Amino acid sequence: MQNFDFDTVILGGGPAGFSAGIYAARGAVSTAIVDISMLGGQPSNYLELENYPGFSLIGGYDLMEKFEEHADKFGVNKFPMQEIESVDLISNPKVIKTSEVEIKAKTVIIATGAKPMKLGVIGEDNFVGRGVSYCAVCDGAFYKDKVVAVVGGGNSAVEEAMYLTKFASKVYVIHRRNELRADKIIQERAFKNDKLEFVWDTVVKEIKGAELVDSIMCENVKTGEVSKLEVNGIFPYIGILPNVENFNGQIAQDKKGFILTDENMKTSVDGVFAVGDVRVTPLRQVITAAADGAIGAVNAVKYVESLKEIAV
Ligand code: NAP
Repeated sequence: MQNFDFDTVILGGGPAGFSAGIYAARGAVSTAIVDISMLGGQPSNYLELENYPGFSLIGGYDLMEKFEEHADKFGVNKFPMQEIESVDLISNPKVIKTSEVEIKAKTVIIATGAKPMKLGVIGEDNFVGRGVSYCAVCDGAFYKDKVVAVVGGGNSAVEEAMYLTKFASKVYVIHRRNELRADKIIQERAFKNDKLEFVWDTVVKEIKGAELVDSIMCENVKTGEVSKLEVNGIFPYIGILPNVENFNGQIAQDKKGFILTDENMKTSVDGVFAVGDVRVTPLRQVITAAADGAIGAVNAVKYVESLKEIAV
């Protein structure tokens, strides 16, 4: 077990975490990013982004590589692939224990992001990796000339459904209402795509199959009619939940678990900041995550400096 001390530890290496790392390191405080997986966060799995200013079209992985190179330039320490055992946000210093290291920090910036919400229907857990997937970019190529369903009506569902039409012969988009939530520009593109078939006012009740998924049972929420759709795969994109397992109960959160902050990204715990998708925020984009990271880090640096003043 190795021991480390840093002024600021950032939990999560996505856009919010890297941005916080760049701003904290440039603020001349010792900084580390800790992540349970590879660095890069959710955008690493996005095929392309076309709304990050300065890049009219860039691969998600490529953009996050640039974020990482930028953080490296300012000497941010990195601890990827860490199995987190505990995070004590209340003590001073804060303590992060993983299976490999124990890190003490004067401030913690939580940038752990969010994960896909599950449908919670029969068969979903059983068929993960055998027809149920939460990542079209990762698994889409397995569905060449097959029929798949995407569930949801937001930007993720519609964009990923369009991506899947590169491989699949047909993609159903199953939405619980008769109107999409996705941005208008995304909707316009989707409605022009012949391989997409929209199934309105419908929810999935069950995922069925033998070794692999072969069908889903759906219910029309207006008529109550139950129907069977023959599909080889199903991609639920029905929203996200915050990655907060290690902090639950230590910090103020909303009903879904998203962390409450003020405009300076301060949480209810002194010296702890939350940035990006993990916090309660009106918009979850790479640009807003990066902006949050900057604000959080600037205030974390101020906090570290205030501790030094107290110590003098
Ligand atoms: P989202 O915008 O919250 O959309 C979730 C969709 O799933 C909604 O259409 C919702 O229906 C539906 N839904 C929710 N719970 C459901 C359930 N239990 N059963 C069936 N359907 C359910 O989530 P998202 O698409 O994952 O996007 C998350 C955030 O990332 C958003 O802020 C989004 O704008 C952003 N994002 C942006 C881009 C981009 O700008 N290119 C790309 C991807 C994601 P209702 O509409 O009826 O509520």
